[in-house]
Amino acid sequence: MKVVLVGLNYRSHAKELGMRVPEEPIIFLKPETSVIGPGDAIRIPEGVGRVDYEGEIGVLIKKDCKDIPPEEVLRVIEGVVALNDVTARDIQKKDGQWTRAKGFDTFCPISSEVLPIQNWDEEIFVKTYLNQRQVQCGSSSDMIFPIPYLVSFVSSVMTLRKGDVISTGTPVGIGPISRGDEVKVVVSVGLRSVEVFNPVI
Ligand code: ZN
Repeated sequence: MKVVLVGLNYRSHAKELGMRVPEEPIIFLKPETSVIGPGDAIRIPEGVGRVDYEGEIGVLIKKDCKDIPPEEVLRVIEGVVALNDVTARDIQKKDGQWTRAKGFDTFCPISSEVLPIQNWDEEIFVKTYLNQRQVQCGSSSDMIFPIPYLVSFVSSVMTLRKGDVISTGTPVGIGPISRGDEVKVVVSVGLRSVEVFNPVI
């Protein structure tokens, strides 16, 4: 199983970082060993400096596929999940590429439940709570690259397998986590929602 993520996909977050809107999605991978479930601890390694939460909308792939056009993406996905793209920010800046910063064990909490999607007209929201205080709120309507386009784009690069997850970027409001914190990411469509909640140790 692989997790494919997008670097910068919300106008609000691009603005926050003072970065230009990219022409094409910047994608990267997190290893399977970074994935944890609800209730599992996010373990901050010694000496890594600042570590951030990034609440995101993930897409769970239902069947092996390649070169899927955007209008056929609904056919190959199970639905959306809540995902936390935990990032060692200082290391990300220092390394200049992201494998180490985003690849530590436990740095990819994913909800165990999936929210089915009927059509892409429904607005999908992602909210992040740090110690029960809301710190991020984003909507799929603020995305630079819409979800069907993103899944199609990634499938044009690599074969997607059943069980793979594509994460679609984080909105404005990223911030640090420390040992003792509790962080929760909630993804919702209308009144339905899925979440992943994790203590930080
Ligand atoms: Zn991210």
